[in-house]
Amino acid sequence: MNLIELNKIKKTYRGRNIESVVFQSLNLTIKKGDFIAFYGRSGSGKSTLLNMIGLVDRPTSGNINLEGNKINALSDDEYAFIRNKYVGFIFQDFKLIEDMTIYENVEVPMLFAKEKLSNIERKTRISKLLKELGLEGKDKAFPDELSGGQKQRVAIARALVNQPKLLLADEPTGNLDKTSADDVMKMITQIHKENETTVVIATHDPQIKDYVNRVIYVDEGSLREEE
Ligand code: ADP
Ligand code: MG
Repeated sequence: MNLIELNKIKKTYRGRNIESVVFQSLNLTIKKGDFIAFYGRSGSGKSTLLNMIGLVDRPTSGNINLEGNKINALSDDEYAFIRNKYVGFIFQDFKLIEDMTIYENVEVPMLFAKEKLSNIERKTRISKLLKELGLEGKDKAFPDELSGGQKQRVAIARALVNQPKLLLADEPTGNLDKTSADDVMKMITQIHKENETTVVIATHDPQIKDYVNRVIYVDEGSLREEE
């Protein structure tokens, strides 16, 4: 079963003077349960691709199908609604809210979800996630009291709290030392295995290629998959 299909996607950015073409005609199929790395140098278009797959940004033209449904014609609100339900996002710089506790950071996406859970249901789910990610006892801490690796694990918990079908990570190990990076990749691998979550990672870190099942090289607007 295909989770996402990109058909003849064109993506350009319009600057003040020039229009730059990142992708001219991109085709890509992501199956449910895939564990993919988009690998390529800086500026090759990895984040652009991830943002289109994650419904953060739209293609200039072409079709995106999500579980067989065309989503091009949806409004921005509908797009945002689907994004909140389907997608969890992790970033290089963690993007935690500094004046919220770890617990509150993880809770945020739940408060925006359409399906409202009770206090106790939220608490149960968050505590379970924090425990699985090795953050037990850190719920009342603030982000600046954690190491980089711990912060990224909080970000993973936050990305998973609405139980998304698709977990996207943009350079998740970019700000981490080797040990923390391995840690984070082991956790992401575990999540992929246990819940059959589809995982897509954009990276220029060659280590990540060892963890995933599909390596897709992004270069000059084209994709090449490693056999
Ligand atoms: P990567 O994540 O692989 O480093 P990006 O997707 O960020 O690559 O960028 C691909 C290309 O698109 C680059 O040439 C970059 O300068 C350009 N680009 C990215 N975002 C924007 C933007 N918001 N406006 C204009 N150009 C952009
Ligand atoms: Mg990038």
